[in-house]
Amino acid sequence: MRVVIIGGGAAGLFASVLLARDGHEVVVLDRDRLDLAGDVESASASAFRATAPQLVQPHVVLALCRELLLQRLPDVHAGLLEAGVAEAVLATQQPPSLTDRSGRPGDERLTMLMTRRSTFDWVLRRAAEDQSGLVVQGGVRVTGLLAEPGEPPRIVGVRTDHGEVGADLVIDAAGRRSPVDDWLTAVGAPPSVMASAECGVAYFARHYRLRPGADLPGLPTTRVVAGLDEFTVGIWGADNATMVVAVVPLVEDRRFRGVQDPEVFTAVLRTIPYYAAWLDVMDPITHVFPMAGLHNTLRRFVVDGRPLALGLLAIGDTVCTTNPTLGRGLSLALRGAVDLVDTLRTDAGDPYARALTMDHLVVEHIAPFYADQAVIDSTRLAMLRHRISGAPAPSPPPATGPVTYAQLRAAAPFDPVAFRGFWTVMGMLRRPDEVYRDPEVIEHTRATIRAHGMQPPVVQPTHEQLLGALRMSVAV
Ligand SMILES: Cc1cc2nc3c(=O)[nH]c(=O)nc-3n(C[C@H](O)[C@H](O)[C@H](O)COP(=O)(O)OP(=O)(O)OC[C@H]3O[C@@H](n4cnc5c(N)ncnc54)[C@H](O)[C@@H]3O)c2cc1C
Repeated sequence: MRVVIIGGGAAGLFASVLLARDGHEVVVLDRDRLDLAGDVESASASAFRATAPQLVQPHVVLALCRELLLQRLPDVHAGLLEAGVAEAVLATQQPPSLTDRSGRPGDERLTMLMTRRSTFDWVLRRAAEDQSGLVVQGGVRVTGLLAEPGEPPRIVGVRTDHGEVGADLVIDAAGRRSPVDDWLTAVGAPPSVMASAECGVAYFARHYRLRPGADLPGLPTTRVVAGLDEFTVGIWGADNATMVVAVVPLVEDRRFRGVQDPEVFTAVLRTIPYYAAWLDVMDPITHVFPMAGLHNTLRRFVVDGRPLALGLLAIGDTVCTTNPTLGRGLSLALRGAVDLVDTLRTDAGDPYARALTMDHLVVEHIAPFYADQAVIDSTRLAMLRHRISGAPAPSPPPATGPVTYAQLRAAAPFDPVAFRGFWTVMGMLRRPDEVYRDPEVIEHTRATIRAHGMQPPVVQPTHEQLLGALRMSVAV
């Protein structure tokens, strides 16, 4: 089958390599040039693209993505390790407060890959470059769909700024700002149906390199993201002795408007002893990259049981975006790409059945993570607004029934069962609601919170220290 994929980001490249290996003839079209850099450092230096500004933001590859790589793209997994990406086994995420440090069956599945996003994409691009049956064409912008009329219309290719390209199947992997609804309506189909939930935060991220021989305050594969009273902050170990640090305030919090200034960024981090200790052992290698416009979204292409169009499927951020703080995007993108190739292997060429199967898989594999994120964010945003501007506090979670993500996260540093429950949700290896309802997880989480309360994992700054770092006087 001839497949055209719109977008050569992670989702498009995952799908393109998998489809080409299944014998399909695949063309990936991306409006950016996507030239392959000579090495990981050049890839990092040229990573920023206005169409995909997330590429310079912190990225962790969660357990689900790693597991799917091992199963379906083992050469990419091996290539990542060769390129300097580190595996962070579960034991490396144990804080000193976790006294029972014995291993448990299944721990090996909860391993993450620590990498800069640019290094990840560099390895994936090389796999695509080496793949026969696959052509990646940069500098070609898709402007619409080619369709044969019908109920629903059948998509038979794409229009681009370089002409028309015919296809038996078109995959929309154009990312969070995919214009697919305009394209659908232009060929007489209804637009997709999009659910959305507020994400509410902005990212300010900076890359660092560890000083050779420095006495590190933790492992280079450390990932500590802390939801503090007035903002979120995180550090992500990455490849080749690099670390990425981000300050993540509420979008509307004007006090943080200066945090793109490296001095303010550093001053904010220095108010938190844990992050200050990391700053002492590394040097910045980039400026501070801002990114806003983040949303939780879930898009469906089957409405009332009917596909909107035949011959068009979608994966990656086109289908679902979630608050980046939990790092779910690459896992969802690879999950979607794997579901796509598996569907094509078994659907006997019926495009109607194919669209329904893909939609069913979105409901099964993607929607639970969107729904989880929507609930997590609504509670977190309400709590931040309560603490910062006195908005009503969110209602406390019920004392019985499932635990919440926030409760599990608070218990994880102290209790081995809660710790594994938390990292199972984080690793996306089970549906979050299944973990929150697990009787053993509930018992351990509640008992741990009774003993330790709901503290963030690091000592946080006072309100005055934060304002000082943001260069505002308390009186303002
Ligand atoms: C701040 C931040 C931090 C994140 N951290 C993590 C993390 O830790 N772990 C994780 O797994 N995920 C993370 N994510 C999510 C992850 O970055 C995305 O889920 C992932 O990049 C989605 O890939 P994609 O291929 O679907 O979309 P994109 O990467 O956006 O790719 C879409 C491609 O389509 C191209 N395109 C768009 N329109 C057209 C057109 N008309 N014609 C041709 N080409 C077109 C674009 O140029 C682009 O190359 C983070 C996201 C953000 C914003």
